[in-house]
Amino acid sequence: MTLTPAEIKDRISEAAPGVFRIRVPLPKNPLKELNAYFVRALPGGRNLLVDTGFNRVECEEALRGALAELGADMKETDIFITHMHSDHCGLVNRIADESSKIYCSRADAAIINDAAGDTYWDELDELFATYGYPRKRRQNREKHPGWEFNVREPIEFTFANEGAIIEAGKYLLRTVWTPGHTPGHMCLYDERFGLLFCADHVLGDITPNITIENGMENPLRLYFDSLDKVSALKVDTVLTGHRNPPASFAGRVAQLRAHHIERLEEVMAILNGHAMTAYEVAGKMTWDISCENWDAFPPSQKWFATGEAIAHLQYLHTEGRIGKYMAEGVWWYAKL
Ligand SMILES: [Zn+2]
Repeated sequence: MTLTPAEIKDRISEAAPGVFRIRVPLPKNPLKELNAYFVRALPGGRNLLVDTGFNRVECEEALRGALAELGADMKETDIFITHMHSDHCGLVNRIADESSKIYCSRADAAIINDAAGDTYWDELDELFATYGYPRKRRQNREKHPGWEFNVREPIEFTFANEGAIIEAGKYLLRTVWTPGHTPGHMCLYDERFGLLFCADHVLGDITPNITIENGMENPLRLYFDSLDKVSALKVDTVLTGHRNPPASFAGRVAQLRAHHIERLEEVMAILNGHAMTAYEVAGKMTWDISCENWDAFPPSQKWFATGEAIAHLQYLHTEGRIGKYMAEGVWWYAKL
């Protein structure tokens, strides 16, 4: 694939003064594109690139092309990684200059560097197996874009702690820890201009995947709390990690909350009278995917669906609405 200069130009738009959205293609992925953002520095300052795309050649070509078109010198550019998913961080080692600071939350930075090796994936396979996902060694991960297009070498991160300020252009960007979609998901917020880079915390026409990671007990509770947190901000311009931003930020936050409440009730109805694993529950939930039935789901989509089912079951369990017990190494959920 070679992009023409016109095609590269077409991938760039000014989303806010001095902030350029770069649509990075995600081939064969239902998300279609990742929005990277380039914030141009004021004289004497450093540019900031927010997120990168997968570690694959199509992403690299589009991102490098767009950065060249914008006249961005990576020697004068730092990078902010909003969260650990490979569509956001996969390219970072290839794009960064050795002088670039690479910011990320401590929690997601640790996962990115673990996920560059095997241990993280072995543990994740094991974790999903305890929720009823079929045990097929390595087979699950090799279909997982998080594995296929991830960074391959550890990254030297600068940890972004909650409330840290990163200056980029005329913006003073404050980090806002918004766990839920991932344990260390971070937004960037400029209060004066009401500008929020919200990555995958709030998306316009897709529902962010809420799933389990090792060490997370109740990701949906975290997600609800993080929705409350951004609801309290004055937001005039929202910059999402994929696709176009919602017409109304407050309206979209309310919709996402309502969506998960509806999902919780759906799971309660599925559990009616039966003890089930999360994998079985996932197979009975409704999914917005063009497959005839659960058996026809591609493995990666079964994986995401199972994670989503786990998040809802764990919420119901920790709220005391359903019971959970282990039998032969697998968790079962049942109505009380
Ligand atoms: Zn994500």
